[in-house]
Amino acid sequence: MDYWRSSRVVAKGDTINEFPFFSTIHGDLHPHFMVLPVGILLIAALLDERLFPSRPADAPTNPWRALAPWAVITFLLASMVAISNWELPMGVTIREILEEHAGGMRDGLKFRGAIPGGASTDFLVEEHLDVKMDYASVQKAGSRLGTGTMIVLDDQTCPVGLTHNLEQFFARESCGWCTPCREGLPWTARILRAIEEGRGELADLRRLRFHTEFLGPGFTFCALAPGAMEPLQSALKYYREDFEKHIEQKRCPYD
Ligand code: SF4
Repeated sequence: MDYWRSSRVVAKGDTINEFPFFSTIHGDLHPHFMVLPVGILLIAALLDERLFPSRPADAPTNPWRALAPWAVITFLLASMVAISNWELPMGVTIREILEEHAGGMRDGLKFRGAIPGGASTDFLVEEHLDVKMDYASVQKAGSRLGTGTMIVLDDQTCPVGLTHNLEQFFARESCGWCTPCREGLPWTARILRAIEEGRGELADLRRLRFHTEFLGPGFTFCALAPGAMEPLQSALKYYREDFEKHIEQKRCPYD
């Protein structure tokens, strides 16, 4: 196998990158791919210190020894910066997470929506701010708790651009086993890109709706494609006006 090429090309310019060979290169930086080299570096630095505690001043410089302090500083800085982790009981509301724990919206930005359970869940909007973050409540509101990793959308970020970004990610993650997922996800990403770049038409909204139905539950082997359709179907529901503005104005109104 040629590991240096994407193994499946589905359309001009688009590729499906089969796990795991290309997921790192194409922007899917899974934590273990980052932890591994840093971990090896730290272990090597510690071994270096243990095995060679002192050496003559004229001994050649060990590259690990030169890198070790930087690795430790980076690791410490990263630990200090990554402070946005909270362990909260099930049932806290989206509003509480956002306003009390995350410090609220940044100055000048308004809340427009949130994906409560990771990229493959439906958007919730302002009317859902008091929904409790537990499985039943989030499901009743029309989404899923999923991984519980909430993504917040503000009023100065384009929901079409955000949805395009998500669908492009899912299209690249598709393993290519099922036809609806293999062909449908890149197609949705291309339609969304066209709309975002001002090349869309009203019929595209119907095409996107069609995709959300035919890539939904029951048509594919795993949950990747149905999950990918959740942010899309809810974006079409809650941000339809934004889609229409892109088409009417032939540009992204957020640019
Ligand atoms: S739905 Fe799952 S199994 Fe089917 S092509 Fe997509 S990722 Fe592969």
